[in-house]
Amino acid sequence: MARGPEIDIVTLFPELLEPFIKGAVLGAALRDGRVQVRVTDLRAYATDRHRTVDDTPLGGGDGMVLKCEPTVAAIEAVRQPQGRVLVLSPRGRLLDQDLARELALERQLVLVCGRYAGLDERILEETGAEELSIGDYVLSGGEAAALVVTEVVTRLIPGVLGNPSSPERDSFSEGLLEHPQYTRPRVFRGRRAPAVLLSGNHAEIERYRRRESLRLTFERRPDLLECAELGEEDRRVLQELKHERD
Ligand code: SAH
Repeated sequence: MARGPEIDIVTLFPELLEPFIKGAVLGAALRDGRVQVRVTDLRAYATDRHRTVDDTPLGGGDGMVLKCEPTVAAIEAVRQPQGRVLVLSPRGRLLDQDLARELALERQLVLVCGRYAGLDERILEETGAEELSIGDYVLSGGEAAALVVTEVVTRLIPGVLGNPSSPERDSFSEGLLEHPQYTRPRVFRGRRAPAVLLSGNHAEIERYRRRESLRLTFERRPDLLECAELGEEDRRVLQELKHERD
């Protein structure tokens, strides 16, 4: 059975993560052993009586900073020899589908959630952690970001999604956005689903979908076309789309 990386999430708020991890697709994959996700409470690694995990920034400023001792101890406790440690951070490398595919091949991912003003820089130095961002905006904590990473990585593991072929057809898988989808009824409030989808002609359907995929990518994300895997027919379609536009 195909397995993805073991995922360890280090957080101050385990209770935020657990319902999501146990639900829906991920929950089923956990139960049948395809995916292992563990949540570690950072506070359990605090060393003083008050279970302190953060402190005010040296030099002054707003917010609190996660302290070195408990955070490094928690990372070291869960990290396996080949584990890859990723601290969620808006400063980090941007997550995209290529990076998700790379992460899905790892043995273990340790995802560290920041809170407040962030983490003491020496946590990164001491553990050799990389920083990973899910987008150019600022969340209040790394938990939502860790869930995003967990979901994009685990859905690439064969058998985690019901239909094994679905990740290959998703947006970005070949560098293109996905074509539009339709289901029954054939006519909704006068809007007809494209006739080709009902033709039973699979070659035609494939051609139509590829064209729609190219059209959407051309209109919305032309930047993606530069790295997309394109064939001769694709380039012809793109020329046509350019002519239509001009
Ligand atoms: N002061 C920090 C932001 C702290 S936000 C800065 O400007 O860089 C608090 C925590 O939320 C961060 O430590 C990080 O773990 C998480 N976070 C916020 N935005 C994120 C993003 N875009 N991607 C991943 N994690 C993010």
